[in-house]
Amino acid sequence: MSRPGISLGNNLKADIAPFTTACVPGTFTAMAEAPILRLVGVSKSYDTVAVLRNVNLDLHRGESLAFVGPSGSGKSTLLNIIGTLDRPSSGQVFLDDKDLSQLDDPKLAQVRNRHIGFVFQSHHLLPHCNVLENVLVPTLVNKTDQTERAHKLLGRVGLGDRLTHRPGQLSGGERQRVAVVRALINEPKLLLADEPTGSLDRASAAEVAELLVELNREQGVTLIVVTHALDLAQRMGRRFEIRRGELVP
Ligand code: ADP
Ligand code: MG
Repeated sequence: MSRPGISLGNNLKADIAPFTTACVPGTFTAMAEAPILRLVGVSKSYDTVAVLRNVNLDLHRGESLAFVGPSGSGKSTLLNIIGTLDRPSSGQVFLDDKDLSQLDDPKLAQVRNRHIGFVFQSHHLLPHCNVLENVLVPTLVNKTDQTERAHKLLGRVGLGDRLTHRPGQLSGGERQRVAVVRALINEPKLLLADEPTGSLDRASAAEVAELLVELNREQGVTLIVVTHALDLAQRMGRRFEIRRGELVP
């Protein structure tokens, strides 16, 4: 049906234009689901220094994303805001439609413990606890028994026979693999990794990078990586550079 004075053909073209990528595999699922993470106008300043300016981002379940950029560009600041370790100066962060700015610090800590897994450049394992105990530390808050999952995941990352070893008895790469398992133990919605391969030798870095990519696929965990390593960044589904406080695709 057409109405006088309106060219239906042109309208149709304009209506369809935003959806030209709709038949790319996976797009329909992604569009149907609400984003797991949404940043709306996120800015962060320290005193008079603006580190992040009006950052907007939608991330869907199961996606992987890298933030790259020179040292001091605001990568960790942004990751910490996403991970509820820090709050934006203005703007909002939604995790599964929940506005995190509405939560007080104890509630935020609950969200963090339950839904977010962190891997840092340094493994931060407890030196007096063994591998299995280290992995189970995040489960102590919820008092859920995840021993079986811990065994399974440690086996998955090739450390099934190292359960009773202490961090000091492991290589750097092995310690970082334990840290990755610890981050995943509570089945988080988001896995955040800040320079996860930054302090590893080449071979271990490649191993940990491979592991993160595989776990994102296998476990369906949504992954955000901050990295200087271009090869790791290139293996993420999406990449953004932080330039002058803004996200540049
Ligand atoms: P990156 O991770 O990209 O190296 P950061 O996010 O750590 O960068 O830091 C971005 C900028 O914010 C830097 O100039 C840094 O000095 C500054 N900054 C970070 N944290 C603080 C803080 N707590 N107080 C003041 N300035 C900070
Ligand atoms: Mg940093």
